[in-house]
Amino acid sequence: MCGIVGYVGSQEATPIILDGLGRLEYRGYDSAGVAVLQQANIEVRRDVGKLINLRHRVYQQPIHGSIGIGHTRWATHGVPAEHNAHPHVSMNGDFVVVHNGIVENYQELREELTAEGVTFTSETDTEVIVQLVERLAANGVHDLTEAARQTVKHLRGAHAIVLMSRHQPDRLVAIRIGNAGGVAIGVGEQENYVASDMPAILEYTRRMVFLETRQIATITADGITLQTLDGAPVEAVIHNIPYDPVSAVKGEYKHFMQKEIYEQPRSITDTIRGRIDFEHQTVHIPELNLTAERAQSLTRMVTVACGTSYYSGLVGKFFIEHMARLNVEVDYGSEYRYRDPILDANTAVLAITQSGETVDTLAALEEAREKKSLIWSIVNAIGSQAMRVADGYITMNAGPEIGVASTKAFTTSIVDQYLLALYLGQLRGTLKPDVLHRYTQDIARLPNLVGQTLELENHIEELARLFYKASNFLYLGRGINYPIALEGALKLKEISYIHAEGYPAGEMKHGPIALIDEQMPVLAIALKDSVYDKMISQIEQSKARGGKVIAVATEGDEFTSRVTWPKA
Ligand code: GLU
Repeated sequence: MCGIVGYVGSQEATPIILDGLGRLEYRGYDSAGVAVLQQANIEVRRDVGKLINLRHRVYQQPIHGSIGIGHTRWATHGVPAEHNAHPHVSMNGDFVVVHNGIVENYQELREELTAEGVTFTSETDTEVIVQLVERLAANGVHDLTEAARQTVKHLRGAHAIVLMSRHQPDRLVAIRIGNAGGVAIGVGEQENYVASDMPAILEYTRRMVFLETRQIATITADGITLQTLDGAPVEAVIHNIPYDPVSAVKGEYKHFMQKEIYEQPRSITDTIRGRIDFEHQTVHIPELNLTAERAQSLTRMVTVACGTSYYSGLVGKFFIEHMARLNVEVDYGSEYRYRDPILDANTAVLAITQSGETVDTLAALEEAREKKSLIWSIVNAIGSQAMRVADGYITMNAGPEIGVASTKAFTTSIVDQYLLALYLGQLRGTLKPDVLHRYTQDIARLPNLVGQTLELENHIEELARLFYKASNFLYLGRGINYPIALEGALKLKEISYIHAEGYPAGEMKHGPIALIDEQMPVLAIALKDSVYDKMISQIEQSKARGGKVIAVATEGDEFTSRVTWPKA
């Protein structure tokens, strides 16, 4: 996972930035860099591989100055290489940027800028940001905060960005849009810090200001000014972070589960990274150790998993069957081992397990090994048993999941299966290049869409206040949203101790509909997809029995919002 660190004050910036990046080292990265204003010039040092390489580079070619920014990169767009490492400097050398996230429309912007004569030095999506800032400056927008504000209006996606200009050597400008990651500003005495992750700067100060989405901070040595993207001033609220290690890790969140829910856009980005070549629209999962011949020889796949991972497997079945034309069965690990399953060498058995140590799932893999099937695993814990015994694996890249109820591991394991489906489709020749192109574009939009959904928190809290006394709940979905309904019901049971059932909506008429009355709220997933009309009819039938329906609907779907209760 990538990281940002910045400093402005009177000390040497470089060691503080390198130290901060070092504290984020456990997250992993492919390259790193630092930019410091040295006598009104932007000086950059970058290197691939471990931070020690960058340290060495800085040792050989030191940079001095008391304002700077640094970054550890984990590539999404453009191979890991020195010229793609951040910070990125604008063509005339006046501005420099570090960035976490994905600029979804970078290709259009890059073409537009190139046509205007801008030369790019990297293949990243990030570089357009700094070139746009420089174009604005050339057009008379000299204030960095203002240029940043105008620039981000052109960007699609979720971002954490920090900019520096050689024309305003006293300030850094930090922006957060969506949930690509946080921006924490550390408040010091005549010096200030900024980081994507609080632990990077906790050593220096315990006083933190957290940027909300769509806020910009102008950070100088003696102050921090916040405003919204629309230019409205915002008061900077300083949080005093306690000294205990748990508070330090939890940061701005009430508990770990909340933190992990909010980490999803970032974890999903980390899961996509390095696996899609956005320039050539191809998917690469070398850890699967799979040749095209072997992929084509497969006749069947069996997914084995427990709990939330089982529901994730049910979702993945839709992708893999559709894109790779491979028949998928999904089984509970805890049941599978007690059957006499039919497996052969043309079957791939996929285990999904966050910890990689789920005993029932591992037992299923043993069975698969004896029957000479191909063994794959999707795991979060690197080096775990399920990863070691597999012929090939895909990591979730979700980071540690401390909350007991699985959240980000659910969504990242679904993304892994989406990538698996694309990869198998590519190797088996079942996906035409234009379709593959569309799917890879879609997945690049996902982190931002998840972030936008998280912004509905207040509305969801209002609903929770209306329904928390219910003792039963029904979750309904069809098609790919049926397993999502199952997972939703599991979460309600696990976290709220409310009995809940997930049900395929089309099956309601075969009996369970009789259960619905005003005491049985219904959560219906009614998106504008191929089964939309059927879901609407289900909602109407539920309401006819006095049921209260919460619909999870597509944004702007007025009809669903009219037929459900309460009103959104
Ligand atoms: N999308 C950017 C890149 O590939 C940022 C990657 C990161 O978050 O480290 O360079």
